Amino acid sequence: MRTVTLIPGDGIGPEVTAAAQAVVLASGAAVSFEEVIAGQRAEREHGTPLPKAVFDSIDRTRLALKGPTQTPFGGDYRVNIERADGPRVAKRTHPSIAIALRKELGLFVNVRPVKKYPGVASRFEHVDLVIFRENSEDLYTGIERMVDEGTAEAIKIISARGTERVTRYALDSMQRLGRRRITIVHKANVLKMTDGLFLRTAQEVAKDRPGITVDQRVVDALCMELVMRPEDYDCLLLPNLYGDIVSDLAAGLIGGLGVAPGANFGPEHAMFEAVHGSAPGIAGQDAANPMAMILSAVMLLRHIGEAGAADRIEGALAQVLREGRAITSDLGGSAGTRAMTAAIVEKLKT
Ligand code: ATP
Repeated sequence: MRTVTLIPGDGIGPEVTAAAQAVVLASGAAVSFEEVIAGQRAEREHGTPLPKAVFDSIDRTRLALKGPTQTPFGGDYRVNIERADGPRVAKRTHPSIAIALRKELGLFVNVRPVKKYPGVASRFEHVDLVIFRENSEDLYTGIERMVDEGTAEAIKIISARGTERVTRYALDSMQRLGRRRITIVHKANVLKMTDGLFLRTAQEVAKDRPGITVDQRVVDALCMELVMRPEDYDCLLLPNLYGDIVSDLAAGLIGGLGVAPGANFGPEHAMFEAVHGSAPGIAGQDAANPMAMILSAVMLLRHIGEAGAADRIEGALAQVLREGRAITSDLGGSAGTRAMTAAIVEKLKT
């Protein structure tokens, strides 16, 4: 039996993580959940959005299923964390909860499959890509400063070591998944040093992989091609910020943010979370689509060797989508989060 740390998060997080939990438990997977509180509720109850108990749990389980957590815009919002580090307690500061978790747990790659399911309305029928986003560098270092009252600057960091690590990870998982083409995405024509290093390093690492074709695109051209012919792409490898933006664009190709799952991997930990944020506008209304979080849980199950349970959940979800009776409004239906979840659980039982 594997224990998974469950972080409900903010906004629609508690609703969609409850849905994913119910579906996993109904699938017969040998998994139990340990719930910890992060985000706004933790801030209210414990005076910090990311209490030490969260790290204590994940450091034990090495696995987390995380709902979205909200990051306030602008201002001087920082997340101060305390984490056991041997006999002492380490204290550090990060720009958001998501970044704190990724950095502290060394989650250097974010994997986002983008697959069109029959029954989900979209402009395209045949989209099946995997996005590999570098997760620890780039403009997400959080190093910014006011140069003077009317000027701000941010620091973008790209390292050969970080790029090699994420490229190797992408190539290894492509070989496991039987995928054949990787497109390195960059803006090296303008950012000659940072993106230039990313492009050169990734090309160098990828050039000798048997069975894998390597090409590259400038990020703006890639965006245009993706919205015109997404079926032309197989796997994308991107630095952190382009990866974030292109992931949302890609979610739009397959039915929107409600359907796009994700996973973050590091040397020891794995954390699974949907691409979408906390969507406060629809929170607490039983309106959120649970699919992205359920598919994130499916990725978790595959990661821990529960492929049978993962297949059963994907099959049950696909059936509910095809029937089109119990689907949420973003998918063109009128069911709530709970009714859609109940329909998937029902299919798992029969
Ligand atoms: P945050 O500040 O946490 O990023 P946000 O609302 O700005 O939250 P997202 O949550 O990513 O950003 O979502 C943008 C919009 O997409 C939401 O307002 C909502 O309309 C829609 N959306 C996102 N996730 C879902 C979902 N699971 N089901 C239905 N609609 C969703």
